[in-house]
Amino acid sequence: MKLYIVADMEGIAGVVSSQEVDSPSSPEYEQARKQFTAEVLAVCQGALEAGVEEVYVNDFHGTGCNLIHDRFPPQVVMIRGGFRRTSGFDLLDGSFAGLVLLGAHTRSGSTQGLLAHTYSRRLQFEIFGAPVGEFDLLALLAGEKKVPTILISGDDKTIEQAATNLPSTIGVVTKWSIGTRGAMCLHPMQVCTLLKEEIRRAVKNAPGIEPPAIMPPIPLVIRPLEPSLAERLNWIPRVKALPGGGFEFLGESMEEVANIVYGATLLASPGE
Ligand SMILES: [Zn+2]
Repeated sequence: MKLYIVADMEGIAGVVSSQEVDSPSSPEYEQARKQFTAEVLAVCQGALEAGVEEVYVNDFHGTGCNLIHDRFPPQVVMIRGGFRRTSGFDLLDGSFAGLVLLGAHTRSGSTQGLLAHTYSRRLQFEIFGAPVGEFDLLALLAGEKKVPTILISGDDKTIEQAATNLPSTIGVVTKWSIGTRGAMCLHPMQVCTLLKEEIRRAVKNAPGIEPPAIMPPIPLVIRPLEPSLAERLNWIPRVKALPGGGFEFLGESMEEVANIVYGATLLASPGE
């Protein structure tokens, strides 16, 4: 049995500011990186104890080089490196029994929850008219490969958002957000203990969880939050401007939708 973990940093214990996760030379980042490694390790250990034989970990935050690799046992396959066409779902196929979304965060444009974004803070994405975040897109990508999402961790607002599309997925709350800039935080060690307990339960539940299914054509809408981005989005083939603002793309698969989301993200990146 194989498990796939997409590991992001915003939703881990104690993190409330971008300084802690986006400034690799700062002491705040070093602290967050240690906790990030401890949480992912707790999930790996719990999963291995529950009978999982191999765990793939995708270091999904920023540079993709955050986790301290030598802390992990040899049954863990580490995927790391910069933003790429298959970021977050590299090598993910139907051979995995479940997906874990660790350290997730709220969707772009959310007025509650910490460090909200969907790849970019300057774009919002919708599928079938409903806003989607990174966790929705990754769960749908896995669903297309018949892999269920068995556990998600993050702040309380992220877990609330995930419950709409992933009702059977176990949610682990690491902190309770106070607006968008603060949170009441669980002790970091307590979060690791919780993750280790809950992954054991999630691995047992995995065969009973339906992967989210979506029938193509998949209507993706991109809403730029800055007017200057609209012109750039017009460059992408098959991306149509909508009369009320925003752009629509009809995807033949979730992987195609992800290609457009990632391409739009790079177009919206400052300095690109
Ligand atoms: Zn991140």
